[in-house]
Amino acid sequence: MQILDGKKASQAIKDELKIEVAQLAAEGKKIPHLAAILVGNNGASETYVAAKVKACDEIGFKSTLIRLEEDIAEVKLLNKISELNSDPDVDGILVQLPLPKHISDEEVINTIDPDKDVDGFHPVSVGRMVQGLPTFIPATPYGIMLLLEHFKIETAGKHAVVVGRSNIVGRPMSILLSENKNPGNCTVTVCHSKTKNIKDFCKQADIIVAALGKPEFITADMVKEGAIIIDVGITRTADTSRKTGFRLKGDVLYDEVAPKCSWITPVPGGVGPMTIAALMKNTYKSCQQKN
Ligand code: NAP
Repeated sequence: MQILDGKKASQAIKDELKIEVAQLAAEGKKIPHLAAILVGNNGASETYVAAKVKACDEIGFKSTLIRLEEDIAEVKLLNKISELNSDPDVDGILVQLPLPKHISDEEVINTIDPDKDVDGFHPVSVGRMVQGLPTFIPATPYGIMLLLEHFKIETAGKHAVVVGRSNIVGRPMSILLSENKNPGNCTVTVCHSKTKNIKDFCKQADIIVAALGKPEFITADMVKEGAIIIDVGITRTADTSRKTGFRLKGDVLYDEVAPKCSWITPVPGGVGPMTIAALMKNTYKSCQQKN
């Protein structure tokens, strides 16, 4: 069994970007600028946004973190996005999800200028992705594709089972894996909460992408020998022995499943860092396209 080490792969991507940015700076050109909006103070969201800002600092990107109150009116948030849309210095806009219940994710996503949609959630970005056209690919699935590429994982002709069909992970992942590209060219099965006999599908999989948000759902009896396991899940579970009071769990029962696999992502240190690296690549691309 080998580890699909997201820390290592993401560091390699960030190191490359750092060199590119230093070059831009040396030539007096514009430096990529990511604007992140955080509404409220959800603990996990705080952590994710802080990691994104830290990655920008590390690479040499400019970043702006905009904090808004939990009870902000939707229209005020939309106005803020419009302001960022028309700011020529801003290359990428992300609004950290989940949003408070009174705000529509759809309205927010649709308000972001597709040219600055570095999270790749806008319908224009999704439509272009489905057609295989150049676009911003949602950061988590893009990060997984970069991880497969980094470790030169052969995917062509393999049967991939994606568990989860959300707009931000499962659905785009299934599309990317089925594309006529490398990595890609998989035969893809998508499972969700209404799928009967998930175990039977998973047992046939050469590649399993677990993106359902149910800790340790994928157990050893669901995995065939030599499978490649991508664990997207991150759930905070209570753990009083830790200073934070919680432990991060993936959707895969790692200790049991790992010995059966050819490759597996750890949690943490697998897909999480790759999501950030992919976001950085999208931000860089946006800046390049505009300048
Ligand atoms: P989501 O929007 O809640 O979607 C979960 C999907 O899993 C849905 O399609 C749901 O099916 C399916 N599902 C739920 N229970 C199931 C079950 N028992 N059997 C089969 N399918 C089931 O979640 P998400 O945003 O895609 O995120 C999934 C996980 O990935 C979460 O733990 C999240 O924290 C994590 N995540 C990690 C990263 C990262 O960077 N590492 C990024 C994003 C998300 P239905 O459609 O039928 O409801």
